[in-house]
Amino acid sequence: MPRYTDTHAHYFDRKFDPNPHNFNDKFNKYGGADTLLTDPDFLSKVAAVINVGTNLVNSQTAVDMAGKYPYMAAAVGIHPEDAQGLPDGTPLDPEKELSALRAWVSDPDRRKRDKIVAIGEIGFDYHWQPMDKDLQRAFFEGQMQIAADTGLPVIIHDREAHGDSFEVVLKYPTVKGVFHAYGGSAEMARELTRRGWYIGFGGVATFKNAERVRSVIASMDLSKLLLETDCPYMAPVPFRGKINHSALIPYIAEVIAPLHGLTVEELAEVTNRNAEELFGLSKVLSQS
Ligand SMILES: [Zn+2]
Repeated sequence: MPRYTDTHAHYFDRKFDPNPHNFNDKFNKYGGADTLLTDPDFLSKVAAVINVGTNLVNSQTAVDMAGKYPYMAAAVGIHPEDAQGLPDGTPLDPEKELSALRAWVSDPDRRKRDKIVAIGEIGFDYHWQPMDKDLQRAFFEGQMQIAADTGLPVIIHDREAHGDSFEVVLKYPTVKGVFHAYGGSAEMARELTRRGWYIGFGGVATFKNAERVRSVIASMDLSKLLLETDCPYMAPVPFRGKINHSALIPYIAEVIAPLHGLTVEELAEVTNRNAEELFGLSKVLSQS
């Protein structure tokens, strides 16, 4: 049975807190993230995980968790929704936040110690209202500049903002990264991968109504394909609507592998290699 790299997870999310209602598959141990993340069955399916922050507070938690699990790395950054204020309503000051992030990731030794492999997640989200496009852009471009200056890859969240997101990519030609939970066109995927970018897919690929996503995957350059969960959200069929986690990636792989005429073992091998190429996981993980 192959082990997969989950390139996009949020294990600091409150949905992973210990709670009998939070776990609902065979990993149901009621013990929260730590019970899940040390479960032998979980570990038998997971090669590596990137725990991705969405603001500087939970990015620190993502880093702290990465320090506990040998297979876990972290991404630190400010998500477009968080850019508009923390859940408790605290407004964010772009200048202050961006300089704190820059100070955090600029020292390569500190990066390695904190197991930070990317800036993320960053981008545009035009779905939720109210939306401040200028503020989102200030955070997105500010973080692209930090990526350009440090050489770190980025993890992009692009929701209903494909044109604007692609335009930002073109503005920072030295920056590489992944468009996670990709919902754009096959043509844009081609333009991105041609420029060395990667595209991440997760549970949505298994949804009955996701024919379009599957056709984009089928048309894609395999050397730029990444697997992810976006857990605790976006659980694959047959767990749709329940709590997602990295050991459910096999359900995603079973749908994606045949789109490229591959076995799941071959898909695991190529996507693990792609994740290593983009993020250099082996440089920070003690086991991969
Ligand atoms: Zn995410």
